[in-house]
Amino acid sequence: MKYFLDAIRAMLVTLKNFFRPVETVRFPFEKRERGERYRSSFALVHDEHGEEACIACKLCERICPSEIITVVGGEKKLSEATGKKRQYVGDFTLDLNACIYCELCVQVCPVDAIVMCRVPEVPGFFREDLVLTMDKLYANEAAANEPTWANATKLWEMQDPKRGLVEAEPDEPAPEPAASETPSTEPAT
Ligand code: SF4
Ligand code: SF4
Repeated sequence: MKYFLDAIRAMLVTLKNFFRPVETVRFPFEKRERGERYRSSFALVHDEHGEEACIACKLCERICPSEIITVVGGEKKLSEATGKKRQYVGDFTLDLNACIYCELCVQVCPVDAIVMCRVPEVPGFFREDLVLTMDKLYANEAAANEPTWANATKLWEMQDPKRGLVEAEPDEPAPEPAASETPSTEPAT
């Protein structure tokens, strides 16, 4: 008898859910509106001189808790833009399959070379599709030019305005007390 009642209860739950409005969408055929700060991928960017910004310092590789970033140092040569010798990156790979989106790699970058960004939503059908090679990361740069707030400098400014390039807003002066709140100097009668 107990099993029969359990079966009836289970069927009632199924029936109830059968008529509930659908909560999911058939991605990629239907796409939901994404939030302003939604970010799904990464990009390597060029600096203000149009050169690859990454200096292959490997800080992002070392800090990544999932150990999914591999940086290979490239040539050390004179920059055509500045005339100074600098390090370039030889190869860079980020495996999104195991990324936990902690953003530590972005925060630690000393030259804002890596950013999180939204990219055109192309679904992947193979694990290899989620491995971001250096070519893919630079191809994402165009997408990163959409308003993106997440590079290291901006994140540091958010956490400590005195450390960033933007000077902290001066404290607002305390408001004058209202006349009714001003202590009276008249002797009490
Ligand atoms: S956001 Fe992803 S790639 Fe970057 S440090 Fe975190 S786990 Fe690693
Ligand atoms: S992306 Fe930034 S932190 Fe990572 S190796 Fe390049 S310069 Fe260093």
